[in-house]
Amino acid sequence: MSKQYPYFISLDEAVSICNEYGIELSTETISLTNALNRVLATGVVAKVDDPGFDNSSMDGFAVLHSDTLKAPTKLSIVGVSNAGTQEQPSIEKGEALRIMTGGPMPIGADSIIPIELCNIEGDEVILQEPSKPSYVRKKGENFTQQQELFSAGTIMSPEKISLCAAAGISEVTVYKKLKIAVISTGDELKNLGDELTFGQIYESNSYGLKSLVEMYGHEATRFPYVIDDINVLRDTLDDAAKDFDCIITSGGVSMGDRDFVRIIMEQEGQIKFWRVKMRPGSPPIFGIWNGTPIFGLPGNPVSSHVVFRAIVGKWLTALTNTPDSYSKYINAILFEDIKTQPGFTTFRRVELFDKSGITYARLKGHQGSGNIAGIAQSDGLTVILPDDKGRKGDVCKILLLWVTT
Ligand code: AMP
Ligand code: MG
Repeated sequence: MSKQYPYFISLDEAVSICNEYGIELSTETISLTNALNRVLATGVVAKVDDPGFDNSSMDGFAVLHSDTLKAPTKLSIVGVSNAGTQEQPSIEKGEALRIMTGGPMPIGADSIIPIELCNIEGDEVILQEPSKPSYVRKKGENFTQQQELFSAGTIMSPEKISLCAAAGISEVTVYKKLKIAVISTGDELKNLGDELTFGQIYESNSYGLKSLVEMYGHEATRFPYVIDDINVLRDTLDDAAKDFDCIITSGGVSMGDRDFVRIIMEQEGQIKFWRVKMRPGSPPIFGIWNGTPIFGLPGNPVSSHVVFRAIVGKWLTALTNTPDSYSKYINAILFEDIKTQPGFTTFRRVELFDKSGITYARLKGHQGSGNIAGIAQSDGLTVILPDDKGRKGDVCKILLLWVTT
């Protein structure tokens, strides 16, 4: 039977179809303290110079370099500059000023000698070596007032948040988080805490999917799982479409008689594609339900994760113009042949190891798409493109599953 929509397409086609149904994100201004993992909607500009004044990077003495060339040299101590000293001191030729790290440089000094190279004798100091101009941190050497520090699209990391604070920026304008509904489907599902009887399993996909949504900087709500009943599913999708920007389901998208997400989308929704040439995870469906984008992910736990990363994550990052920003890749040498299929993108679960300074990837656990333990214990996923074979010894792109920086 011919389909009214793209069917069993390449991963690249799937991603580009999803991108045709992007959502315009609104923006909000938030406190810097809440900015971790948020995406800047407008660039940020420094309000001050950094450093704001010449200061010392060492505990020691501020001196005139020309006074110290014939070290050891004796100079007279004329005062002190602490971090926080508010009036700029000064020295003359033949003089030294005790200075702490961060203390303002005195007028007349151009260099620092660290305290370890000094002997103090009363109000005099003997320098054992010449002083160093490089221990002076110069005004504006890190950044200057009005300099653009970050452009729109930057994802805020702990270091970038510190830099904003150093630049006097207390608020940033970011894209608002999408509100995403995560809905699991299946008669076999039970909630954590419930007793499992024969044939039942714990509903686990929604936990990983919620975490993935959050990792990608958005907000997820886990719905109560939905039994395999088209009427219950319809009510749930209607509710979700009303209150959420996007819906992610898991389960019920394959060819079976009880795959109701696929069935309801065929009968009542707008399907934009169904089935993708990828392993694992070939059954996903994408479409629109009551005006809301819906990603129907497969129920197999590994597939749901892989499809999120390969398709949903790409869509989310395209919305903020940060393409693929949460995906970190490395190249590794395949330690063994990987099973591939011509025309398919292959995401096998691998662990990485180092031998003689070279990074290798080898299969981790059995590669069944129900084996959540396998993916949870892996370092990454192979990204073997449709035309590649994945042979032992090949250089292979690996998508790292979890990187904290
Ligand atoms: P389905 O895609 O509905 O055919 O489900 C495929 C496999 O994934 C079956 O073995 C299901 O029991 C399992 N599965 C479906 N949904 C979930 C879920 N939310 N958590 C864990 N496993 C699931
Ligand atoms: Mg099912």
